Parts: sequence; C-alpha cells; structure tokens
Amino acid sequence: MKIGIKFKLIAFTASLLLTVILFLSILVLNGIKSYQNKEVEAALFKQKDMFEQYFSERSSSSNNNSTDNSIQLARGSIFNKPWLRNIPASVYNTKGELLSGFKTDGKLNENKDKESMIQYAIDGKVSYVKVNDVIYFYSPIKYKNNIVAILELEYSVKENSLFYNNIKKMFLITGCFALALGIVLGIFYFLTLTRDIYKMKNSVENIQKGNFDKIEQIDRKDELGELSKGLIFMSDTIEKNIEELKIERDTLSVAVDKLEKMDKQQKEFISNVTHEFKTPITTIKAYADLIEIYNKDLDLIEEGTSNISEECDRLTAMVDSVLNLSALEKYDFEIHKNEVNLKEILDQICSRMMGKIKKNNLTLECDIEDIITTTDEENLRHIVINLIDNAIKYNKPNGSIHISCHRNEDKIILTVEDTGIGIAEDALDKIFEPFYRVESHRSRETGGAGLGLALVKKLVEKQRGTIKVASKLKEGSKFSIEFSI
Ligand code: ADP
Repeated sequence: MKIGIKFKLIAFTASLLLTVILFLSILVLNGIKSYQNKEVEAALFKQKDMFEQYFSERSSSSNNNSTDNSIQLARGSIFNKPWLRNIPASVYNTKGELLSGFKTDGKLNENKDKESMIQYAIDGKVSYVKVNDVIYFYSPIKYKNNIVAILELEYSVKENSLFYNNIKKMFLITGCFALALGIVLGIFYFLTLTRDIYKMKNSVENIQKGNFDKIEQIDRKDELGELSKGLIFMSDTIEKNIEELKIERDTLSVAVDKLEKMDKQQKEFISNVTHEFKTPITTIKAYADLIEIYNKDLDLIEEGTSNISEECDRLTAMVDSVLNLSALEKYDFEIHKNEVNLKEILDQICSRMMGKIKKNNLTLECDIEDIITTTDEENLRHIVINLIDNAIKYNKPNGSIHISCHRNEDKIILTVEDTGIGIAEDALDKIFEPFYRVESHRSRETGGAGLGLALVKKLVEKQRGTIKVASKLKEGSKFSIEFSI
C-alpha cells in the first residue's frame, strides 16, 4: 500500500510532539518527586536531630545516668516540647518495646515491616518506608555514643502525593491538548504544503503526456516556488524543442518527397529522351539502307535525303531543347536583364512569324501596350516564339491568334490566345511536363516532341513569373504569363 506524503508528515509531527511531551513530563515529574523526597528526608532527619538534642540536654541535666532513667527521659521528651509534636512519633526501648507515643491523626500504624525496621535501628541504622502516603521512619537515639532508645516518626506525604498527582494530571491534560493542537495545526500546514507538492506532481505528469498548457505555477517564495519555476522553464524548453523537431521533421519529409519526385522525373525524362530520339534515328537508318540498296532510284534518293534532312533538323531541335531544359534544371543561370521596350520586341517577333501564320491561313491580332521594363530579352523571345508556334500548330484552318500585353499595377500580363483545337481539362496540368503531348501522333506530325512548354515554364520561372493556361476543347486556348515589375 502506498502511503501518501500528507499522512507521513502528519504522523511524523504527531510522534515528534508525543515524544517531546512524554520526555518533558517524565523529566519534570521525576524532578518534583526527587525534590519532595529530599524535602521529606530533611524534615525527618531534622526532627530526629532535634529530638536527640533535646534528649541529650535533659539527660546531661539529670544526675542519674542509669538505663531506666534514660528510658524515662526518652518517654517524657516526646511530650514536653510542642514543636516535636508536628509529626506523630513513638519511642521504643532497645528491646523494641513501646515506651510512649502520640498520634495527631489517630491512624493505625500500617507498617508491616515495623519490627524488622526497629531491629535495624537497634543495630544503629536509620531506615524508612512509605506505606499509603505515610513515611515510617526509624532511627536510633544516641546518648554518649550509646543507643538508648528508638524513635519512630510517621510522616504524612499525602499533600506531596496530591501535588504530584495534580501536576501529573495537568501534564496529561495539557499534553493531550498540545498534541491535538499540534496535529490540527500540522494538518492545516501540511495540507497547503502537500497541495503544492501534488500540483507539481500533476505538472510533471502533464509534461510526460505533452500537455504543456496545463502546467500550473505555484506562488511560493521558498524552495518549492523555485522548483515550480524550474518546472515551468523546463516544460517551456521541452515544448520549444519538440516544436523545432516537428518543424525539422516536416522540412525533412518535404525534402525527401521532393527528392523522390525529382528522382522519378529524372528517370521518366531519360526514358522519354531515349524513346523520342529513337524514332528519327530509325527513320534515318531506314532511308539510308534503302538508298544503299536502290542507289539508282533517283526519286527514292530525293525523297530519302529530304526525309533524312527533316529528321536531322528535328533531332537537332530536340537535342537543343533537351540540353536547354537539363541546363535550366541543373544550373542556376544568370539572368541578363536589360531595359527593353516590350512593344518593340513583340512587334518584331510577330512580323517575323507572319510568314508562317499566313502560310497556315491564319490571322494575327495584336493589342500591345507601350511598356518599358527590365527583362532578359533572349528568354522573353524564346517564350513568345514557342507560344505563337504552338498557337499556329494547334489552330484550325482560317483560325486566328490574339496577342496582348498590358501593365496592371505592379504586374505585366502577356497573353497568347488561339482559336484552335483546345486542350482537354484533364491534360491542362500535364502539358508543362517534358515530353507530354495531348495527341502524340498529331504533335509528331507538327514536329513537336513535347518539350516546348516545359522549356517555356522553366524560362518564365527563372524570371520569377507565372504561367497559366485556360482552354476549351474545339474552341481554343489562352496562355497567360505574369511578371512582377
Ligand atoms: P510540342 O512540341 O509537342 O508542341 P509542347 O510542350 O509545346 O510540345 O506542348 C505540349 C502539348 O500541349 C502539345 O503536344 C499539344 O498537345 C498541347 N498544346 C500546346 N499548345 C497548345 C495549343 N495552343 N492548343 C492546343 N494544344 C496545345
């Protein structure tokens, strides 16, 4: 069974109080008893000495020195002096026979050892005994060094006993009272003390459970108060450390996720590169083999060389894109920003692409604000050309392309919109991934390997911009880029 600290402290205080009270009572009562004994002894001896002196005086004034005379004197001495009668006394001869005596209380001699004690006195020794609050005292009375009689005194110690018993009773009552008061005060004091200790115990349990908001501060100016402050400090530190650990764990898990994603992307990228490169190489190899076999067939040679040249161009474009993309991925390229006139650059790009637009029976509308800003011109050209190129490739016959560029508060918004085939909703967030094509056969026909938009996104992000696409199938698509100024 577990005994609580509250009970232990109260029990300890009670036993301490009890020990002190007992010790003090025994000490005081023993002191009183020994004082009373000494006082009684002194009174008895004084009485005996006075009797002896009076007896000697009477004997020396009498000329008759016979034993009988001494006995008569002894018998008479006891009545002659009133101061000798304070204490009931009797005189015996040396044979132990009673000569005379007087009693003030009329009590019977209750001393059973009387005879042996008289005999003891006859032998010259003093003795006394206490029987029922009366001290029986026996002493030889000497005259000229001879024992001539035996004096018996009956000294009542009733008052002494009464006094002693009263003191004892008082000690008992005050002792019990002090003990009860001590226990009550102890309970009150230890209750507040243990209440604070229990509070701290709960605080420790709350720290163990991680309930840091349930820690209570104890308002004390002693060691317990300091301990409580220490506990709060400790709990705050633990809480802070746990928070920091959680943040670190989250950051680590984000980093691990990112690494895993990057690893997956890299593997996909490599497998896509291998796949995309194989197609033109296979075509080139096939035409090369055919030309070797039918080296006299001029039509085949013409068609073959034209196809080989086309596939080589496609391969070169692909190699360029892949290299650009992986370079952008790997190295933190410096951005070469210059102050440029956006309208001038966009107009220039539009006029250069006009031939291709017309060739595809498309029309171009431009709504470009005159904006001077600082940007990486090369990057910007690459982005816009790619987007216009896609707007041409994925447009419908007689469709149109709309280019706009405006300034809105602290942003420049550039859009390239077409009236083309549009993009399915589920493909919208994938078109920026490398090698992704919505309709791979159509894309391949138009010469794309699915790297253009991936490159555009990287270039936009390098300039701390964002790119978004909104599209509706068979109605057209709108690519919007935002750069903050
Ligand atoms: P690609 O070289 O194949 O054109 P992109 O990265 O430029 O590669 O585009 C990825 C895919 O997104 C394309 O294959 C095409 O299916 C789709 N796409 C891009 N631009 C448009 C557009 N303006 N309209 C419709 N589809 C588009």
